[in-house]
Amino acid sequence: MTDTKTRFAPSPTGNLHLGNIRTALFNWLLARRMHGRFLLRFEDTDLERSAAAFEPGIQDDLRWLGLDWQEGPGADGGNAPYRQSERLHIYQGYYDVLERAGQVYPCFCSQQELKLARKAQLAAGRPPRYGGTCAHLSAAQIDAKRAQGLLPTLRFRVPDDSYVEFDDLVRGRQRFECRDIGDFVIRRSDGTAAFFFTNAVDDALMGITDVLRGEDHLANTPRQILLLQALGLTAPRYGHTAMLVGADGAPLSKRHGSRSVRELRQEGYMPAAVINYLARLGHHYEHDGWLQPEQLAEQFALEHLGRSPAHFEAGQLLHWQKEAVMRADDQALWDWLTSHEPGDGARVEAMVAAQQVSAFVHAVRDNVTLPSDALHWAHALLGREPVFSDDAKAEIRAAGAAFFEHALNCLTEQHDEFKGFAKAVGAAASVKGKGLFMPLRAALTGEIHGPEMAKLWVLMGSERIRDRLQAARAILCAV
Ligand code: GLU
Repeated sequence: MTDTKTRFAPSPTGNLHLGNIRTALFNWLLARRMHGRFLLRFEDTDLERSAAAFEPGIQDDLRWLGLDWQEGPGADGGNAPYRQSERLHIYQGYYDVLERAGQVYPCFCSQQELKLARKAQLAAGRPPRYGGTCAHLSAAQIDAKRAQGLLPTLRFRVPDDSYVEFDDLVRGRQRFECRDIGDFVIRRSDGTAAFFFTNAVDDALMGITDVLRGEDHLANTPRQILLLQALGLTAPRYGHTAMLVGADGAPLSKRHGSRSVRELRQEGYMPAAVINYLARLGHHYEHDGWLQPEQLAEQFALEHLGRSPAHFEAGQLLHWQKEAVMRADDQALWDWLTSHEPGDGARVEAMVAAQQVSAFVHAVRDNVTLPSDALHWAHALLGREPVFSDDAKAEIRAAGAAFFEHALNCLTEQHDEFKGFAKAVGAAASVKGKGLFMPLRAALTGEIHGPEMAKLWVLMGSERIRDRLQAARAILCAV
């Protein structure tokens, strides 16, 4: 084991979405790659937006995806607690350190004043930053303001004539001028901590060595480095990954087909499919085929993380899902199908008798991406009443009544295999190729595309096949 320690630090404000999960995954992959540790921490200092009720779901989703943590809730690595709202006494100690060192000062500026100042700076073409109104208040001035009942924020003093430089793990050397940053708030007037303060302190205290996170956090990083320097704590290496966007380049949302992990699970996506896709969104793998999670980790490389936005495509997720289905063995596939309820309480196992399970899985495997597809085929192949699509009806009509007479006659000959039956029908009706297979497919399944006929033959059995052929013939009689 190396000393590499990465982390996932979600704010429990809702269910995990693909963007959060990709961040968690990159950190998990890096920890695995380096034979290090992966830590989970809940950042719930924003009490209005956070709810402990989301935490079990987040943990459950991470476990489902196989992103196990070696340190965090349920796995104390000597840095507990792992919920920030339970660490307020720790943060207070660090506020005190900064106060004693004169690195911070109370700021009584109102939101309105700050807003006006920002406006004026922007109008003058300058980057908005705090003008320093409260930076040099005397003790008497501070007391007077407090006596008026004003509640101050706590601002960190940023040295004006300096700069912050760091090597971003993804974007390379970064340099920020302190004069562009300005003194910033590390504690709000209601006493709650600013996110980047607790985030930086905890990373240092918990021994995090590497942080991969979205580039929306890039502007926080120089502030966090300044804070940690002032506290004498070690900053992790930071890497800012490009954002996940939809096909139109806008931040990923529902309308791009993005969903929460919870929703993906309910629809029947397999964890390995989600992992295979997300690991490639913004990270380049030499091998573009399926990789097991451990292989994804072995081949993970910081230099393969991209700097341009990663475009999510719902179709790609389906592609990896299909790959996952193809790789599951029959039993795993059946267990997966039967652990879902794809529509209106209907379940696949209610349609498929115990002795049909193996033939069913065989027949539909190539035509199933999600459990809802299996339910569709269970209805189409094993339902009481055949439902013919318009295309199927057209094929049936084109074949004509005589074709189905021949087919029904040939059924009496007891063919064990579809091949023998098809051959007999072809000879009797003098048709071959598409003219033979399409009407048979249309009659048996009600559709013109679907599972292999030979496999259907085994699954459906001669009685059901006879019913379907008769139903197809009935369509012709009804015309
Ligand atoms: N709690 C922060 C968030 O959810 C963590 C940011 C970070 O990874 O540093 O955005």
